[in-house]
Amino acid sequence: MTEKHPEPELHRETIAAAHGVAADRAFRAVSPPLYLSTTYEFPGYDQPGPYEYGRAGNPTRDLLSEALAKLEGGSGAVVTSSGMAAIDLLLGRLCVDDLVVAPHDCYGGTMRLLKARAQRRQLQVCFVDQADPPALAAALERRPTLVLVETPSNPLMRIVDIAPLCAMAHAAGAEVAVDNTFLSPAVQRPIALGADYVVHSTTKFLNGHSDVIGGAVIAVNADRAAELRQWCNVVGTAGSPFDAWLTLRGLRTLFARMDRQQGNAMAVATFLERHPTVAKVHYPGLRSHPGHAIATRQQDGFGAMLSFELAGDTGAIKKFVESVRVFTLAESLGGVESLLAHPATMTHADMGEEARKTAGISDTLLRLSIGLEATEDLLRDLESGLAMLTD
Ligand SMILES: *Cc1c(COP(=O)(O)O)cnc(C)c1O
Repeated sequence: MTEKHPEPELHRETIAAAHGVAADRAFRAVSPPLYLSTTYEFPGYDQPGPYEYGRAGNPTRDLLSEALAKLEGGSGAVVTSSGMAAIDLLLGRLCVDDLVVAPHDCYGGTMRLLKARAQRRQLQVCFVDQADPPALAAALERRPTLVLVETPSNPLMRIVDIAPLCAMAHAAGAEVAVDNTFLSPAVQRPIALGADYVVHSTTKFLNGHSDVIGGAVIAVNADRAAELRQWCNVVGTAGSPFDAWLTLRGLRTLFARMDRQQGNAMAVATFLERHPTVAKVHYPGLRSHPGHAIATRQQDGFGAMLSFELAGDTGAIKKFVESVRVFTLAESLGGVESLLAHPATMTHADMGEEARKTAGISDTLLRLSIGLEATEDLLRDLESGLAMLTD
């Protein structure tokens, strides 16, 4: 066989579509095999092979971690059993005196986890509006160990300027972890903007098919990646090989899905903004969005998530969510199918009314995850649902 030419620097689209393709040495399988074995043979006395035990390492899971590390521009990644396990992997290494600065409008599960660990005196936490520079500066004066960032935020789609935040946090001696779940590396790459870690709920856009719960942490350098990998083995929260295999399969189409889904999202946001029964639309792609300029600069698109406030009361909300047909009333996001959620009674119910009010999450706010359906079907579904409110 002719020798292959030297490997070029590959584009992210190519990594997503083809990392690990035609790399099987046993049977020359084109699609990477699924290794379920929990244990691996030692070739001889005191001679470990590349793998020993499945909690510590698995070839299928490693293929997914490599692909994610490359896509995010990090030097290594750990694949965990859920997005929460990924965030907790970072928190689990902290000590009683370590302070975590988190967004006041962070993912409900992240807030619950931080509060639970703080209540048990395993760390300290303070929640701030990270888009408010004086509030952030005051929090950084307390010398945090870790600053957790979510941008766009959930569900209000507030944008945080990652690069200056990282510079400020580093100057204060803190590490920065960005939850990139809402955009995926197809749209935003926080490590290039200065982040030390990127965390993901791979459950969402990375897998994209609403059939796997999973997570990942990507680290900027090899030392941090090795430390996390070791800690993941200590606590035993690695993702299953089958889940990794499915997620890698989903990842193949990430760029094509994101492209199409954000196109649909822009059409939906534009439609809603013009509708008389809609009071406000939160989508960074709209000029009216306060984070539009930053999002244009730091993202390659505006993502497929948006939220909006209905002009009306909770009665109107009930009527609307129960009348739509193409959108499904369900939590989660990032799948090929469009979902509709009511944060106050669903994703952000646990947060409590007071905290929701502080974060600006009203009872008439609805969140949409836009899928791959025909644009016209999505718009017609919303149009018909909104028409029910004025009948
Ligand atoms: C879903 C989600 C998580 C948690 O991930 P799981 O896979 O459900 O554990 C964390 N952060 C964000 C932004 C999410 O959307």
